[in-house]
Amino acid sequence: MKRAAVAAAALVAPLALAAVVLLAPLAALSGALASPLTPSTAALSDIPAELLPIYQQAAGRCTLPWTVLAGVGKAETDHGRSTLPGVASGANAAGAAGPMQFGIGGRAGNTWGGAPVRSVPPDLRFGVDGNGDGVANVYDPADAIQAAAGYLCHLGADTDLRTAVASYNAGPGNPAAGMGYADRVLAIADGYAQPAEPQPASGPGAWGDHANGRIPAEALCPIDPSGEQRLRCDAAAAFAQLDAAYRARFGSGISITDSYRSYDDQVRLKASWCDRGACHMAATPGTSNHGWGLALDLGGGINDFGTAPHDWMQANAPAFGWHHPHWARQGGGKQEPWHWEYGTGAAR
Ligand SMILES: [Zn+2]
Repeated sequence: MKRAAVAAAALVAPLALAAVVLLAPLAALSGALASPLTPSTAALSDIPAELLPIYQQAAGRCTLPWTVLAGVGKAETDHGRSTLPGVASGANAAGAAGPMQFGIGGRAGNTWGGAPVRSVPPDLRFGVDGNGDGVANVYDPADAIQAAAGYLCHLGADTDLRTAVASYNAGPGNPAAGMGYADRVLAIADGYAQPAEPQPASGPGAWGDHANGRIPAEALCPIDPSGEQRLRCDAAAAFAQLDAAYRARFGSGISITDSYRSYDDQVRLKASWCDRGACHMAATPGTSNHGWGLALDLGGGINDFGTAPHDWMQANAPAFGWHHPHWARQGGGKQEPWHWEYGTGAAR
């Protein structure tokens, strides 16, 4: 949105804009023009409360959405919660260190610049003292997040966000190798922003004070012998009855491809669809009914329109509380013959 504002201003008054750019520090200009993205409930439950304002403030260094900066922090180290080598101390095998995995040497190069923990000034390369304590510390989120924002801006985040994020991961000379990473980060960022318009819900949504994709296993019931596939317990009980009826008709049970989906799994799925150029095929992370344990993806023929198993499900599943949402039907906009939900009427 900020870019559009700049473009419009440039068309109307190029001289005035040039004067502003000359007079104002770039960071201040960006901060004044940047449109704030409201954190989604998923962002509030996933991002440590002390880091959220740091991401938001640091992103003002250029037209970098804070959600993307936070997406990098999530993808790199789960916001510093990872216990892998190089996060809280030292460096990983490639030479990356701290919550934002800055290169401090080795294969990763030294994009941080100088020692990983050092007095400032001077600022060397991208490592900065973000919180003004006189130390640039690659392990301190207050410094590392500011530095990551500066590095992403340097990589061209305000002109080509995807390439900048890819370069952050794979190095500025090799963005193609980082595109999968970039898609994952952009999918995380998508889930961190409150949608401007409420998304059309096709199921009953929240229950039991849980957040989407963060339901403890003990609050769900298994629906297959391995216990890998789980649903909310009333949905699981209804599914067992539906499955028995299906088995009586077809001689074998319903084949289950996917059921409850954690938040992180939703991020992975969104990224894999985006990677294939079909972002719209996956829900925004934190909004899927799979994250509520109330949706199933089914196979064994149900996953194709016009088959006997699919038609049987259309005719019989509603009696067991299961239905195929309108948006997933043939001509429904986002055809998913495999996707079934529990708990709302067949009319939706
Ligand atoms: Zn599904």
